[in-house]
Amino acid sequence: KTFTELNLSRVLCRACGKLGFESPTPIQAACIPLSLAGRDLVASAITGSGKTAAYGLPLLERLLHRPQHVKATYVLVLVPTRELAVQVHSMLQKLGMYCKGISMALVVGGLSMQQQAVALRSKPEVVIATPNRLIDHLENTRSVDLDDMSTLVLDEADRLLELGFQEQVREIISHCPGRRQTLLFSATMTQSVQELVQLSLRNPVRIAA
Ligand code: AMP
Repeated sequence: KTFTELNLSRVLCRACGKLGFESPTPIQAACIPLSLAGRDLVASAITGSGKTAAYGLPLLERLLHRPQHVKATYVLVLVPTRELAVQVHSMLQKLGMYCKGISMALVVGGLSMQQQAVALRSKPEVVIATPNRLIDHLENTRSVDLDDMSTLVLDEADRLLELGFQEQVREIISHCPGRRQTLLFSATMTQSVQELVQLSLRNPVRIAA
């Protein structure tokens, strides 16, 4: 299969070419069609499998078709650590290099709250965040508007839970619209990951690539 055969737009296929991605990895081939179809997904995927593009490409594709290009935060990617947030932000920006009008905000500890609040008030289409800093904004700067959010990505869900973010993840989910797509990626499928799946996903397709 090629990226074109997965029904991704030219701007995304061109970005893959530019990045040297010749063909989809197994996790990408499995996730992209289901995610484009709007399904919730639980994917067993380790770092190095190409998991970031497995959710990044379909979320960008869906953003390309968003109604009337109304400025709003449509996608929240929640990750356990600042390092992963930086990597995900960088990869999504590269995948979106030929997509016009899609902005992305990095919301992690150690950076200015004020600058992040300004960025969040401009309603970036994609927010990549770690739990504590996002909650700080939800509760204190009140700069995050998740009312139009349509896709939630929980990346490295097992690590989110291992690092003790269970309560924070629950709180963040309580701020997300009930009608949404949720994509969960995890290296391991522990009992607590299964509980999170029960709590936050709707009739998910399970993928092990
Ligand atoms: P990830 O699992 O998302 O951390 O990605 C691991 C590495 O694989 C990253 O450096 C990507 O640039 C690379 N990668 C992702 N998708 C592909 C692909 N389809 N072909 C070649 N490399 C890829």
